[in-house]
Amino acid sequence: MGFVLHELMLTFTQSGYTSIRQHGEETYPHECCGVLLGRFDDSGASTKTVSRVVRCGNTRADSPHNRYNIDPRELIRIQREGRERGEDIVGFYHSHPDHPAQWSSTDLGEAHWFGCSYVITSVEKGKAAATNGFELTGADEADKKFVDEKIEVS
Ligand SMILES: [Zn+2]
Repeated sequence: MGFVLHELMLTFTQSGYTSIRQHGEETYPHECCGVLLGRFDDSGASTKTVSRVVRCGNTRADSPHNRYNIDPRELIRIQREGRERGEDIVGFYHSHPDHPAQWSSTDLGEAHWFGCSYVITSVEKGKAAATNGFELTGADEADKKFVDEKIEVS
């Protein structure tokens, strides 16, 4: 009887993974953002598969170099169109121009989709560097936290 570590995993296709990283390079020195559509694995609930990357416009005109926001109406449309194809929103992505691929307190504060992934790509001098994933976990807003998630490209 061993203690099994609960490992979280997010799987991308090569083209999806490339797409989110290129998006960050294209919008540099501003943050890019977008939605990850796909499936939650029914068997474990700890893995998700991204089948579609939807690029969004960053509506944070006041501070686009270090903030991002997805228009809620755009998000509702993406969710509806995904459901018509049998896809759920499994996560979100954004970039950190010239900052590490680690979540900020603002990122945590503005994250509200429990069980979803938040993927961050560091873009250093215009080139995509590290990409890291975090799952939003917790019982409620007061209890929420990000847990490291492994990203796999298949
Ligand atoms: Zn961020």
